[in-house]
Amino acid sequence: MSSRQWVMLTLAFVLSTILVTATESSLFAADAKPVFRAGAATSNITPPLGEAIVGGWRPIPARNIHDELHARCLVLDDGQTKIAFVICDNVGIPVEVFDLAKEQVEASTGVPGSHVLMASTHTHSATTARGPSKVVRETELTDYQKFLAHRISDGVRRAIAQLEPARIGWGKIDEPSEVFNRRWHVNNASLLANPFGGIDQVRMNPPRGSDALDRPAGPTDPEVSFLSVQSLEGRPIALLANYSLHYVGGVRSGDVSADYFGYFAKFIAKKLGADEQETPFVGILSNGTSGDVNNINFSQPRSKKYKSYEKMQEVAEKVASRVHEAHQKIEFHDWVPVAAAEKRLPLKVRKPTAEMIEHFATVMEKERKNPPKRQSREAIYADRIEKVINAPDEVHVPLQAFRIGDLGIAAIPFETFAETGLEIKDRAPFGQNFTIELANGSYGYLPTPGQHRLGGYETWLGSNYVEKEATTKIVATLLDLFQTLQLDNGTEK
Ligand SMILES: [Zn+2]
Repeated sequence: MSSRQWVMLTLAFVLSTILVTATESSLFAADAKPVFRAGAATSNITPPLGEAIVGGWRPIPARNIHDELHARCLVLDDGQTKIAFVICDNVGIPVEVFDLAKEQVEASTGVPGSHVLMASTHTHSATTARGPSKVVRETELTDYQKFLAHRISDGVRRAIAQLEPARIGWGKIDEPSEVFNRRWHVNNASLLANPFGGIDQVRMNPPRGSDALDRPAGPTDPEVSFLSVQSLEGRPIALLANYSLHYVGGVRSGDVSADYFGYFAKFIAKKLGADEQETPFVGILSNGTSGDVNNINFSQPRSKKYKSYEKMQEVAEKVASRVHEAHQKIEFHDWVPVAAAEKRLPLKVRKPTAEMIEHFATVMEKERKNPPKRQSREAIYADRIEKVINAPDEVHVPLQAFRIGDLGIAAIPFETFAETGLEIKDRAPFGQNFTIELANGSYGYLPTPGQHRLGGYETWLGSNYVEKEATTKIVATLLDLFQTLQLDNGTEK
């Protein structure tokens, strides 16, 4: 090597060292602004035909796919922390499936499970993704459960691959006309008999327009909450909404469908002018707290006969229109902090009393001698009760709290009552708060202690599986989790 070559090489080295140093120092300079990023993706989770649809009392095999089912994924990154939301078209996915998906996400991306919220929409026209019991954790997963976990984790990975600098905003608007509390005080004792041989004080889904109807047993939450992310040029990336409505229904028998949650995703894309984008926009509707709220106006007789899929489109259109209206007024932020916290809360599993076991033994003995034409309500609960006898005495239910700027999101793995959602909205520390139910697991209904005293379908052992004080413990834990997020990251309030 000539001395001239040496000089050139040394010069090149010195220059590159200066360049690297300059880049590093600008990366870590105290005044450098962190960049907020967002990415979204959908992952198809449609099951094979023949799997069991479990939305009704008795399972039926899937014979047709009316519309594809999806896991809709959104990832937010404040430059330091990533959080993810995955909303799946399913009636209720158990903790073991979500935990497997979270392990896969963590292994492939480094994002911990505590920072990923995975929930079911509660469409009643999807096939089952759970084992025989809601409180026994299965160790052997079915083919569909494994497929589902894998498709969910793929969705998160793909959303991360789509991360780009983004702006974020959120808002809320009321739509009271599509939510009705389905638990009623009625003046007719024959409507109040339960399969345990007792009499309840309230009736779930009473006869529509009946004279026996007195008053609903609880409130509804009319609020549609949403958060929206767009690119720095204003191209919509994703919108995640939340409404406290069980589902709508009105599908053809044997059809697989995402219900109104799927239509909402389509309609909001169109309203935002984002339905034909090169980078696909992802519309997402999560379920709020709708364990006791559905779409039936019980106080009125049925006014109109709807065709299949008509009503769910009507409701989706209304909710999407309201969100679009409110969306025009929200403020977008270039950067907000994001944070997440999780706790697995131990809850006692309810066990049948000796009287219950004896009652069902007598009923089933009668049915064996004189078999009814179709499975009775008593037989369904006899079966459910048998399954909890040997269930573990305790379950550890995942609870999560998220912070996105001044927006708080709680995650509860039960079909949660509207009054619980309202309480969290009221007591959580951020400017706007909402809850996503059936998140990170699916442990059945979660009536409040007061609703347990009234009885009714959702409170029956076999609809509900955990101690009657569970709601109180869950709300207290979530408020504690929110508090830690406020302290940890309380720079922007
Ligand atoms: Zn349901």
